[in-house]
Amino acid sequence: MPRGRWKAGLQALWEQRAGFLVIVFMANLPDIDYLPGVLMGSINVFHHWYTHTLGWIAVVSLAVWILWRKTHRAGWSVFAVLFAALASHLAVDLFSADHSVPYGIMALWPFTDTFYISPEPLFWSLRKGTWNDVFQWYNVQAALYEAAVLLPVLAGVLLYKRFAPARGRAEP
Ligand SMILES: [Zn+2]
Repeated sequence: MPRGRWKAGLQALWEQRAGFLVIVFMANLPDIDYLPGVLMGSINVFHHWYTHTLGWIAVVSLAVWILWRKTHRAGWSVFAVLFAALASHLAVDLFSADHSVPYGIMALWPFTDTFYISPEPLFWSLRKGTWNDVFQWYNVQAALYEAAVLLPVLAGVLLYKRFAPARGRAEP
């Protein structure tokens, strides 16, 4: 196994930081529905509605892809990555505990406006009725627990990238 692949991987990540930041932004974008609630003083009022749907993430990933193509070479695989980043948010929310109405998300809208949620939540529900609720140790624990659950996934991806044979380019 050639040494230096970790360093090369980090360097590649740094070189592609704009794309990486776009993906992180996209993965969190559905929660933009907190903003109107924040402005109205009730954080959850508009949360878990249309920004957490298949239709919304399809339109947004298509729009961002079209904009991205104006300045970068970007084939369908870039659209797929943008869509996957948004879809990952829906997947995590489907497996998160939800203690406020509406329970779950309309994941398949516009095909159906049924709300879906896993009967066995994998992640904790954050406490966020007010700003005082947000800044508490319970929410830090919930975030740490979520990170711990997802860390093996990240480790698996990194190990795959580390040990999978390089494709389309010579070994360093
Ligand atoms: Zn969400």
